[in-house]
Amino acid sequence: MNEEISKLIHLQSIDSEIDGFDKEIEDKQQEVAEMEQSISNKENSIGQCQEKTDALDQQNSGIEESLTDAKARIKDSQNKMMKVQTSREHQALLKEIEDNKKLIKNNEDQLIAIMEQVEELKKEAEELENLCKGEKKLLTDAVKKVENAVKKINSRKKTVLKKRNSLAPDLRPATMKRYDILRSKRNGSAVVGAKNGVCQGCFMTIPPQQFNEVRKGDKLNFCPTCQRILYFEEETETSDA
Ligand SMILES: [Zn+2]
Repeated sequence: MNEEISKLIHLQSIDSEIDGFDKEIEDKQQEVAEMEQSISNKENSIGQCQEKTDALDQQNSGIEESLTDAKARIKDSQNKMMKVQTSREHQALLKEIEDNKKLIKNNEDQLIAIMEQVEELKKEAEELENLCKGEKKLLTDAVKKVENAVKKINSRKKTVLKKRNSLAPDLRPATMKRYDILRSKRNGSAVVGAKNGVCQGCFMTIPPQQFNEVRKGDKLNFCPTCQRILYFEEETETSDA
């Protein structure tokens, strides 16, 4: 096999390994990001509970004020009652007292309903806070673990990068350029095997004449469909024969 081809195969395997490290790091950082998102969602919900509680507290003050006023009006009516002369005036005062009593009953019912809602919100916020506490602890552990894992991955990556740096200068600049473009366009794979006359990158058939040249390996061959650099891979028995 042409030396350039074997170097390209080696380079591809190194780069795939490096990509694998990067993917590993990305996955681990993604895990942490998801945990952070979950905590932040819960903190938002806690904030919403607090906002609702504040609004209810305000409503509560308004109702309490109305209640105090109604009580004062009853007292007032009761005081007037002693001074009225006619039965008509008496009846009117009685009605006023009755109306205010109804209002008080209504206000008290509202206050109970608000209290129940506030308690429910408080419970909800407490549950969320407990969950948050647990998740934050898990997050701290996860961040440490990921930091350590990333360190290990990076040191493995460094070793592999050294190998790459010693290999890449041996390749012609034009070949390297082509290789780099293919890697960026073809999801990281620039050099692929050709097996049983089929490109293992795009799985399209290679014309027999060209496949023969790939088998000989005297010069660089490119897949006519995906343009990847091809090398000959031993044919395997098809299992469905
Ligand atoms: Zn192809």
